[in-house]
Amino acid sequence: MTEAKGKALKGIGVTRGIAIGRAHLMAPSELEVRQVTIERRDVVHEIARLTRAFAAVREELEGLRSGIAPDAPSEVRAFLDLHLLILQDALLSEAPRDLIRSRLMNAEWALTIQLEEVCRQFEAIDDEYLRERSTDVRQIVERLLHALAAGTPTRVALPKKIAAGERLVLVAADLAPADVLHLKDRADLDLAGFITELGGPTSHTAILARSLGLPAIVGADLARERIAEDDVVVIDAEADMVIVNPSDEELQEFRRRLRVDAEHRAQLRRLKGKLARTRDGIPIDLLANIELPGDARDALESGADGIGLFRSEFLFMDRDDLPSEDEQFEAYARVARVMKGKPVVIRTLDIGADKVLTEAARESLGMSRGAPRQVSNPALGLRAIRYCLAYPELFLTQLRAILRASEVGTVRILIPMLAHVHEIEQAAAFVARAKEQLKERKLKYDARIQLGGMVEVPAAALSMPEFVQRLKFLSIGTNDLIQYTLAIDRTDSAVAHLYDQMHPAVLRLIAQTIRAGTRARVPVSVCGELAGELEMTELLLGMGLRQYSMHPSQILPVKERLFDLSFKESGRFAGRVLRMSDPMKIRNVLLRGIQPTAPAMLQ
Ligand code: PEP
Ligand code: MG
Repeated sequence: MTEAKGKALKGIGVTRGIAIGRAHLMAPSELEVRQVTIERRDVVHEIARLTRAFAAVREELEGLRSGIAPDAPSEVRAFLDLHLLILQDALLSEAPRDLIRSRLMNAEWALTIQLEEVCRQFEAIDDEYLRERSTDVRQIVERLLHALAAGTPTRVALPKKIAAGERLVLVAADLAPADVLHLKDRADLDLAGFITELGGPTSHTAILARSLGLPAIVGADLARERIAEDDVVVIDAEADMVIVNPSDEELQEFRRRLRVDAEHRAQLRRLKGKLARTRDGIPIDLLANIELPGDARDALESGADGIGLFRSEFLFMDRDDLPSEDEQFEAYARVARVMKGKPVVIRTLDIGADKVLTEAARESLGMSRGAPRQVSNPALGLRAIRYCLAYPELFLTQLRAILRASEVGTVRILIPMLAHVHEIEQAAAFVARAKEQLKERKLKYDARIQLGGMVEVPAAALSMPEFVQRLKFLSIGTNDLIQYTLAIDRTDSAVAHLYDQMHPAVLRLIAQTIRAGTRARVPVSVCGELAGELEMTELLLGMGLRQYSMHPSQILPVKERLFDLSFKESGRFAGRVLRMSDPMKIRNVLLRGIQPTAPAMLQ
């Protein structure tokens, strides 16, 4: 499309696709905060106002939570849970009460003072994801302020009239997940998407938009000044752009693209029941990565051939105790049941580095009380299999739970972050010990359960002759393999530009691992993010990959791409790419393969 005739606004697109609708501007979220010194005799009254506001917000969030459809994406519940947790945190619920008592501030003032304090603490954190959480605190405080001013926390005022068949695009400074859910739930409104001035790609509102499939633009500076109520707006999330009052010609072009997208989506859905294979008939397994048992249904819905990676550590995080053997068994068995006999690969606990247990959970393991041990390189420290071997009871409990679930379906065990042969041998000994313990309790399990290993560090990729003798399957965790090969902390934004999957060293390690596994007849999958990236499909296929594991939303697009590719020709293509040495040139060659994105014609 040529230069937009309508006014164009830049932002960050968070969901693929286009949305067209009428703008509805939400009132500024920054409520005017009265700052009043109260009389001492009014302290009780002021605290009661604050208590009522907390109760109103809690009631609102719990109401939304109980109304969540059982098949809703797990993020929806997770965000509401997080907001409920923030609401209960003493930093927010207790500290403002103390300020009212000690400094005679009115409730609004005390809340905003405390908000600034909490945000200051968050903003000092050297982690983008955690820093973004100050936005969640701000959103909760806004709801509390709204409840104090208006008696209700909901600040979504709807347009006076909405013409039948008209879609709505919400324009706001910021939107809390609860606001989005309120609007998405309304049967009388058709929410096409939203635009916010604040927020980044990892803000919870952005993540929620993605999981609800709503096109959205976040971080669109001055959106409420540049868009007026009732303007026709087009969100072009792929181009990170909003077009305000497009010309007729432009509008027609966007409508045409909407139709093409819808047809393409329908075409993709038709692929669900087809087995993935290449143009020359080589069958490929497309597996799903999941984090919580509830995600298994998404995996099945997207036509996954199984679960290639269940990141079990998510059952252990954000809680003050450790999940018992029975609780874990229920979680693993639930996934196995949903997958109805399709393989379910459960990765044992990958805790450490950026995924940590709470202080209380660590204490229950008998770890150091008080201040956590300072380690300067947590990604190189006690993580994954190293952690499990250091805490045998933790490991054995999990292995028993996985073994018991193997009675329910086709369950496999995957060990993360292996570097040494002796780690495989120790893990296998633990599996044998867990089997013994179950036998003593007369509990059943699949005696032939397969033990596989992740290839995430160069040492593993370079130890294939030893690894393939001891493991029944391999899974290449490219997210970490890139980090450990290039010595780039994957969570450090200062070096993010150097985190490059096209680095020839990374590509050679992947290719080498696939080749070694294939020769030894040990199945190999790739389960890092790049397995779901369309520009990588051909290269991985050409390296000989037969199993891809990815976020469920990527399964159908990758399947479509595979139908277009020939296994044989991809091999030649990969040979050429692997001889290249410039990551930029490699990227260009791979991108050329997927452009233009004409939908494949399928019989
Ligand atoms: C990986 O490292 O590629 C992987 C799949 O594991 P995670 O992203 O959970 O570390
Ligand atoms: Mg990993």
